Order: sequence, then structure tokens, then C-alpha cells
Amino acid sequence: MKNEITVGTKVRSFDFAGRELTGERACYVEGTVVAKGKCPPVCVCSKHYHILVARQVFGGRERTELVGEIVYPPLNGTEGMFGATDGVVKIVAGPALRSGTLTAGII
Ligand SMILES: [Zn+2]
Repeated sequence: MKNEITVGTKVRSFDFAGRELTGERACYVEGTVVAKGKCPPVCVCSKHYHILVARQVFGGRERTELVGEIVYPPLNGTEGMFGATDGVVKIVAGPALRSGTLTAGII
């Protein structure tokens, strides 16, 4: 499946509904899916990506708090408070990615 996100996929996970990559509304992390399943410490849904963060942008600015950490966004299509989420996208050809293990034009 072309758009399937599996372990090892390089992804960008947006914090909010927007998809801005720059500017004050740009809030996302980029990294690698290292697992799928429960998010610690308590989870009953088992529907989360585990993403090892290589780059963090918040409000359009580079941040480092989450770099090297794992984040647990819900799997795409998971029903939530605001409807089915689709906040994680597979990186196919993003802008030049500078840090960590990410390189430009992945996959
Ligand atoms: Zn959960």
C-alpha cells in the first residue's frame, strides 16, 4: 500500500489540524516510526504511532525539547474528540530536512 505507514517510515506529525510547514501556525515533529501500539503508561486503544523525533518545529521555530524523545500520536483514521485524525503524514519529498537521521527526499 503506497501510503501505508509502517515501522521505519519517515513521517511528519502535526500537532493541530493545520498543515503549515512555516510560520507561526507550523507545529509538527519529524522522525521515524519505531513501533505501533499502546502509548505508555496507560492505554486501552493500542492505536498509536511511536515516533522517534529527529526534528521539532513549534510556532514556526526550531525546538529541541522533543528531539530524541518518543511521541505517540493516534494512528491516522482513529476516531477522537474532533473526529477521525489524520495528523501523521508519510514523508515522500519534503523540504530539505536538516537534522538527525532524516535526509531530504525520503522514500
Ligand atoms: Zn491509546
